[in-house]
This record gives sequence, C-alpha cells and structure tokens, in this order.
Amino acid sequence: MSTVLKDVIHPDQACAVPGRKITDSLILIRDAICYARDRNIRLVVLNLDFEKAFDRISHQFLFKVLEKMGFPGRFIAWVGLLYNHMVSRIVVNGHLSKNVNIHSGVRQGCPLSPLLYVVCIEPLAQILRRDKWIKGLDLPGTGGLTATCVLYMDDVTLLATDVLSIRRAMDLTDWYGRASGAKLNRNKSEAQLFGPWDGVDTGRLDVDFKETNFKILGVKFDKEGGGRDNWTDMLGKSTPKVPGTAGEGGVLLSVGVQVGALEEKNCEEKTGKWRKRPPRPSPDREPVSPVPGLTLREAKQAWRNASHPALQNRHKDLSWMVAHEILPVRAVMHSRGMAKNPICPRSGCNSPETVRHLLWECGAARDLWAKTGPLYFPCLPAGGAQIGYQLAILGVGRGLKDLTAQEFTSLWLTLNVIKDAIWATRNLLVGKRVTVPLHACELKVTSMLQGYRATIFGRGGRGRTGRVPAATDPGRPGSPLSPGGDDFLDKDSPPVLYKR
Ligand SMILES: [Zn+2]
Repeated sequence: MSTVLKDVIHPDQACAVPGRKITDSLILIRDAICYARDRNIRLVVLNLDFEKAFDRISHQFLFKVLEKMGFPGRFIAWVGLLYNHMVSRIVVNGHLSKNVNIHSGVRQGCPLSPLLYVVCIEPLAQILRRDKWIKGLDLPGTGGLTATCVLYMDDVTLLATDVLSIRRAMDLTDWYGRASGAKLNRNKSEAQLFGPWDGVDTGRLDVDFKETNFKILGVKFDKEGGGRDNWTDMLGKSTPKVPGTAGEGGVLLSVGVQVGALEEKNCEEKTGKWRKRPPRPSPDREPVSPVPGLTLREAKQAWRNASHPALQNRHKDLSWMVAHEILPVRAVMHSRGMAKNPICPRSGCNSPETVRHLLWECGAARDLWAKTGPLYFPCLPAGGAQIGYQLAILGVGRGLKDLTAQEFTSLWLTLNVIKDAIWATRNLLVGKRVTVPLHACELKVTSMLQGYRATIFGRGGRGRTGRVPAATDPGRPGSPLSPGGDDFLDKDSPPVLYKR
C-alpha cells in the first residue's frame, strides 16, 4: 500500500507517505507566513482539531474511500479481514462484558493504521482544495498553484486569505464529519492572522484567534514566520535536566558551555581544587551528509567548499543548496507539489529541470561553460582539459591537489560566479520572461567577479597576470541584460571547455 500512496494522496499530506517529511509541512507554513509579511497581504492560518480523530473514523467510510481511490477488491478484502466483525469486550471488576461491535476507528499500534487514516482524511483535503469559496494563497513562481491546506495525519492546517474561507472550511469539515464520523473540535481549533487585517470583523467566527503562542505540529509560529520562542522554550525545559545544573536527568545538550561546566565540577570533586583549564569538551560531530555521486571524503570537501570563508553569503547558500540538490528548480518544486510540471523553462528544452540539468546539462548552461576558459577567466585551469561536473559544481576532483590554497580559492570563487549567473538568468526567464543572451551572461559573470576581484587577483593567485574584462567591454556588444538571443552558440555543441 505504501508504494502507491504517493499516487493517490496529494503532496499536501506529509505523513505516512514514503519520501515525505514533517518539515515539508512546516517549511510551507513558515514560507507562506514570511511571504504574506513581505508582500503585506492577508493570510489566516487555521488549525483544525479533530476530537478522537483515529477512534471515530467509520469503517464503512474507509472501505468506500479505498474503493473510490481504485484499490483492487482483493486488497480491500484483505483489509476487511482486519476490520470486519470487530468486537471488543470490557472488563469490569474482573467480569467480561458481552461483545461490543466496533464500527469505527483504526487499530492502535497497527502499522497499517497511519496509511488507512491518511486515505480517510484525503477526501476532506480534496473538498477544501477544490472549493471555490476558499481562497488559498497563490504561490509565486508556480504558474498558478495555490496553497490551501497542509496536512500531517489528522492535523489539518488551512491557509486562506479571507474570513469567509474560514467559515466555509469549518462548514465543509462538519459535512465531511457527517460522512466519515470525524468530529471537528471547534473549541480547540485555533487561528492566527498575518498581514493587514485591521477593520476586519472576526468576532462572529467560532474560532480562537491567537496573537501569540500559535502552535502547529508542536512548533510555534510568530508574526515573523520564524519561532525564536521554540528555542528558548526548549532550552528552558532542557537545562534543569542537565546533571550538575539542577536535578539529575538523561537529556544532555551538546552545548559547549554546559558540558564545560560539568567537566569543571568533576575536576573539583576528584582533586578538591580547580584545574587551571578544564579539558575542552569535544562537541558531538554530526556525520557527514552524503552528496550523491561523491565518496565520503569528497563530500566532506564539498561541504567545506560550500562554507568557504571567501564566499559571499549568497554563494554559500547557492553552493549548499546545490550540494543538497534542493535548489528550487522545477523538478524539486514539482516533487513538493509546488510546480505544475518538472520541465525546464527554457524554450525547446523538454528535459526535467534538475539541479544538474540547470547548471550543467541545459543548453544555456553548456553554452556558458563552453565559453569560459583561462583566456577570459584567468583563474580557470589552462591546458585544454575539461572541467567535469563535480569540479565545476561542487569543487571536488583529482586535479585540484596541485593547486595552492590561494589558487583554489580563486578558482572556486570564479566557478560560483558562473553558477550564480546561470541561476540568475534562469530566474529572469521564469520571473520576468527575459531571455538573457550568452554574451550578456558572460558579462554578468565578469561584473560579478569584480566583487571578488581583490580575493581572486590578490598576490600569489594564478590569475595575477590576467585581467577581468570590464562589464562594458567595448569588444563585446550589448548591455549585460539586453533581451534577444542572436549571440547564442549552437545549442548542440558539447560542453567542451577551453576551445575558444
Ligand atoms: Zn533545459
């Protein structure tokens, strides 16, 4: 069942479907709040609470939904084996009662229960999404997708932009409850308003509107979308449990200061006096996150590169997202239900837009990489060698061990600027429908390189004899971002570098 759930359950539901995570829901809610704040638009986040959600779901309803979703009769019959003619007996003062027939609820502790429950709640999510009176939040850059509800098992969070939507959502939920047995707990349902809501009457709605302490899935969201309070709360709860501070307990924070304090206490107990310098605790290191296609050692290098001290923050972010393959390209957004299709936005390119495609395989990227070489960008290695994907994108590869640190820094900064230019021109295409011609893209690289000029062309760099051409090089026509595509290379040319 788990292998087909992703095909029948909308990506809004992040629980019980393999490959989806609770953080998907939390990040969507946080980003929606931040977006509403930045654009100054109204957003109401409503958290629907169900009374005894798992116990109330009707078996009859469950089997009808399974049938409607297209599960084969044979499969439904197997599930029926677990649920038909269910009886319970109650022990009262040692005496067993007569059989009580059970017609609702999923079995507690059964690994199938979460899967069955997300199937049962999916019809509610569908009617909320489809209802034309519920105005969700339009997601920018998705070609018309709207975020209306976010689900994690029985936790249903509605994102809406007007008050009517709240009333409508609650009415629809009641209606769903009459069919499924679910019961909306109006007293425990909470909402918070974000953005300019002055003058809007919310008094007649049967919802508790929160100003602070608004919690979804156990995480607090404040007006800014973030939740600093989450950390203060957590620290407050954990501190008393750290032995040696107050009381004894099992939770140990890997916070250097607190562990340091423990070490000092031990020294005092053993020797009766303070050591000059208590031994420094070695913080628990997290294991290295793997990078697809790289060995552990190379992955370590890739993460070091992503946080290279010479990189500007935006390039650190870019490198980090590229290594994690979570740069918001179409394929990534599509997998999260936030883009209509995964296809590359460049006209004529019908490949899925993955991170690798965007930065390396797409015609536009190949053209730019083909144009870059040591003649124009002196930090790039000379000798007619080809830069491979891993070197260009992640900064790992065999040839690098011969470089000095300064040379590698210059090379890595240049590579980042090129990737940034590809990403920036792609966003211009998606956001403003501007096609940036190749020569303008090159000029964008050179103008961005100016920001790194001192680092790259400082003393000792491989490029010390080279030049960074000015952004308005007279030998190259056109302003950096002038539209038009007359200067593009033949799209079929392979990504061979250094052959100019
Ligand atoms: Zn493409």
